[in-house]
Amino acid sequence: MRITCLGTGDAFGSGGRLHACFLLDFDGGRLMVDCGASSLSALRRAGIAPNDVDAIALSHLHGDHFAGAAFLLVDAQVASRRSRPLVIAGPTGTGDRVAQAMEVMFPGSTSVDRRFELEFAELEPGREVEVGRSSVTAYPVVHPSGAAAYALRLRCGSRVVAYSGDTEWTSTLIDVARGADLFICEAYFYEKRIPYHLDYRTLMEHRSELECDRIVLTHMSEDMLGRLELLDCEAAEDGGTIEL
Ligand SMILES: [Zn+2]
Ligand SMILES: [Zn+2]
Repeated sequence: MRITCLGTGDAFGSGGRLHACFLLDFDGGRLMVDCGASSLSALRRAGIAPNDVDAIALSHLHGDHFAGAAFLLVDAQVASRRSRPLVIAGPTGTGDRVAQAMEVMFPGSTSVDRRFELEFAELEPGREVEVGRSSVTAYPVVHPSGAAAYALRLRCGSRVVAYSGDTEWTSTLIDVARGADLFICEAYFYEKRIPYHLDYRTLMEHRSELECDRIVLTHMSEDMLGRLELLDCEAAEDGGTIEL
């Protein structure tokens, strides 16, 4: 499996990084995990055609994690002229929120005839859902966003990738990371503790409880990006790739 880190930034463009977006490429399947507002540009920067994405799994419905789905769908309808089906999985309400985002930004864009099948799959805690060629299990985390917020466990062929989404520390992260080949985890601040986001120090205090081979940090603020050389852990960067 190859993972392309398309967007590893926070909501506020810290370090000039793009919004949350990872592409998991495995056994002929291509699953996008989170699709922040800048994700269409990120795909094109990486030379990946948007039509090659089979499915999208969304952790929660903040703009830096889901707003790119609106751009991707408008692109699919107008510019890329998609014909392959697309599945978007996310918390209950994802279909409505994506449609609202499309209508706010591109009025009328939800009422055109699509040449492709679009399916929304609702994630529910603890239930494994088929999403394209992978299966996704959602774990509730602590991050208010107008709908449920999840960490995700993504089973793609023989590999398992865990993804924290955005959350303060919760023991749920132990469950989502257990036995994973890779855990992509938020580290928003270095040591400052705030509600709803995770800091590096707290994560490291719990490192021994996380039974996974490898952790890669993402969703970093300027505070974290200024201290990358102090980290005892890998950090993702835009455009970087991870082989599993
Ligand atoms: Zn975020
Ligand atoms: Zn968020």
